[in-house]
Amino acid sequence: MIKKVIPDSAECVVIGGGPAGSTAATMLAREGLKTVVFERSRFPRPHVGESLMPAANAVFKELGVAEKLSKAGFPNKIGVQFASRSGKETSPFIFGRPENGGLEDTWHVERSVLDQILLEHSAECGATVLEGFRVQKVIFGEDNEVVGVRVTDDAGNPVEVLTSLVVDASGQQSFIANKLGVKEFDTCRKNASIWTYYDSAVSMFSDQVLTLIAQTECGDCWFWHIPISENRVSLGLVGPREIILTGDLEAALESKIEACPAIRKRLQGLRRGDELHVARDFAYTASNAAGNGWVLVGDALGFIDPVYSTGVFLAIKSAQLAAENIITSMSRGDLSGNSLGQWYSDYKMRVSWLRTLVELFYDNSFHFGDFIRTNPSLASELASLLTGNVFDRDARDFIKAADIYRGK
Ligand SMILES: Cc1cc2nc3c(=O)[nH]c(=O)nc-3n(C[C@H](O)[C@H](O)[C@H](O)COP(=O)(O)OP(=O)(O)OC[C@H]3O[C@@H](n4cnc5c(N)ncnc54)[C@H](O)[C@@H]3O)c2cc1C
Repeated sequence: MIKKVIPDSAECVVIGGGPAGSTAATMLAREGLKTVVFERSRFPRPHVGESLMPAANAVFKELGVAEKLSKAGFPNKIGVQFASRSGKETSPFIFGRPENGGLEDTWHVERSVLDQILLEHSAECGATVLEGFRVQKVIFGEDNEVVGVRVTDDAGNPVEVLTSLVVDASGQQSFIANKLGVKEFDTCRKNASIWTYYDSAVSMFSDQVLTLIAQTECGDCWFWHIPISENRVSLGLVGPREIILTGDLEAALESKIEACPAIRKRLQGLRRGDELHVARDFAYTASNAAGNGWVLVGDALGFIDPVYSTGVFLAIKSAQLAAENIITSMSRGDLSGNSLGQWYSDYKMRVSWLRTLVELFYDNSFHFGDFIRTNPSLASELASLLTGNVFDRDARDFIKAADIYRGK
């Protein structure tokens, strides 16, 4: 293995090599900026979050990585389907249908593969990618401005790298937001998740797949069912922490599968192929997106909820917008928080529309079918929201109508 030399200094340091970190690194390195990514793990590494949104395609194209991804053999996600408490399945919402605006398909991915392709692409674009290096500290100067980072390698050896710009893409670790105490957890919902994988001995999925979101009979929890290869499906349970995480996890998962006809049916003949994984406290937002010499992107900035698969898309979109803004800020010689955070208010407004869509999913009094029958002109807006298309369109009419429907 070639031993990589750690530079003494960099124009930009990126913490974390997930989708947000690699997106930022690609954009900054392509601009000729000396960019170093510190990733604490060694890729490929597993990660939850396998169902993508079509809106991610535009960012992949902008990064110049779309073709590599299309050759990776990921199954095409052609739409989404929902199953109600009674087990009644909606007809699939197919992105490409003319009545949905003929939208593009996307993929179900193995994250170890997706994230590695994206990170290798950053290196090809000129970023120095250092795996097995954990950022331990962001060092601030007298005026609270970033002056460097302290990292340790796999063996715990410390190194300091001088920089005046840090992009925090550390995912749910929220490195900077935690250190500064600006991470604000969602107070209205404290969901958790248990997930695992099921395998079939024979090939059972085609390369045209749907994400299924299925509610349990009493409506307190829901499942995702995401085929990620011909014979492997990712299955996750999401629900209130006190319901799914107290007691035995195996028993909690099994009893909820029993209480979900759409999932029960789909797991027949499949074998559990992995241990159980758990996530909790995943819904939060940082109250500041930027400060003097630092910017937060992806999950390090915030995460809404797994239900509409917004995570990876918002990770790469926020990183793209933040990186564009860094390039402008650097050309002006202004790395103040004001300058580095300029992209954020528009981003926050658009993400709030997706946040409302999530709230509507959890609102038992809201019925999407009935809402669209009452507001037929908003069908294409709903289609747009389901694909993540909030950066080229304005969803305020939809949000206003949803508020009226809910009597708000
Ligand atoms: C239960 C659940 C289900 C989900 N399902 C979906 C889904 O179906 N579709 C979807 O799009 N999203 C989903 N998500 C969200 C998705 O996983 C994230 O939004 C996405 O991974 C965010 O990308 P990121 O690059 O910001 O962070 P990550 O992908 O988490 O990358 C962060 C990287 O930073 C590294 N790191 C952390 N700290 C340090 C440090 N100190 N030094 C160096 N490196 C560090 C980590 O090792 C990691 O590789 C789900 C999330 C949860 C909780």
